[in-house]
Amino acid sequence: MHEISVARSIIEIVRQQLAGTSDGDVKVVRVRLGTLAGVVPESLEFSYGALTAGTRLEGSRLEVLTVPAQARCRNCLAEFELDEETFTCIACGTGGPEILSGREMQVVEIELGE
Ligand SMILES: [Zn+2]
Repeated sequence: MHEISVARSIIEIVRQQLAGTSDGDVKVVRVRLGTLAGVVPESLEFSYGALTAGTRLEGSRLEVLTVPAQARCRNCLAEFELDEETFTCIACGTGGPEILSGREMQVVEIELGE
């Protein structure tokens, strides 16, 4: 399952960020997830919970902020939001737009307890 490997890399990033810090508990980990990343937020949260059990991250919550994908038309250069269904330009109807964002998966914040 794709979500498990994504959850693994999130945990790896968090571990690196925490390396050398004192052992405060992690409360929340916030990630930005593009709608084109092909990851189901609920599955990702579930995988995260399963993988962090018994580690320093146990009990922390993964918060997924979904970021809409942005695309630019190759014909008229209009920029628009992309979802799974609309892969054509909203202005001129040309297909195959250039994807500007929407595939990202990024840890944006780690919230520590005391
Ligand atoms: Zn267009």
